[in-house]
Amino acid sequence: MTSQVHISTHPLVQHKMTLLRDQRTDPKKFRELLQEIAILVTYEATADLNIGEEGVMTPLGQANGGKLKERVGLVPILRAGLGMVEGVWNMMPNAEVWHIGLLRDEQTLEPVEYYSRLPVSPTVDVCLVLDPMLATGGSATAAIDILKHWGAQRIKFVGVIAASQGVHRLASAHPDVSLYLAAVDEDLNDMGYIVPGLGDAGDRLFGTG
Ligand code: URA
Repeated sequence: MTSQVHISTHPLVQHKMTLLRDQRTDPKKFRELLQEIAILVTYEATADLNIGEEGVMTPLGQANGGKLKERVGLVPILRAGLGMVEGVWNMMPNAEVWHIGLLRDEQTLEPVEYYSRLPVSPTVDVCLVLDPMLATGGSATAAIDILKHWGAQRIKFVGVIAASQGVHRLASAHPDVSLYLAAVDEDLNDMGYIVPGLGDAGDRLFGTG
């Protein structure tokens, strides 16, 4: 893995990942864990955001402070990416949220765009693409193609579990995009699912499995 790929080693992430993967975890708990892991991985992904100095008056006097200078866009890939939005958005309530819908063609496993309503030109400085599962890498690569075509200058991918195949595809298609993940698993099965992974993230989130 190159320096472009960051895999969290934080004990809280590892602990929550075990619970998230567990087939006995019900959808309510799964949603909570996914939000929490998304927050922790995003914390690492946003460590280099630019801040400007901003003084603040406390009840006892003037203190030095900082304020985020960059406008952040959260870009969940529908549908499983939705499970990461709320937690991250709570941390950055001024972020804009732009959705991209990509279906996987069951025959080719390649992504097909079915939803994207981005405004004419970019309204944010940094885009965080959110998708818990980076399997073949097709959807994430296509979503980032869409954002670059839109004019996005700075893009990071925030995920939860990746297959090494997906990491290589995304990293080589977009060498300027850093990847932040909680785990990388070795295998993909012939349905395009990550093994051992956690199953279908959308189904586990929305109780549709
Ligand atoms: N999407 C999922 O939800 N799970 C996988 O393992 C791969 C893609």
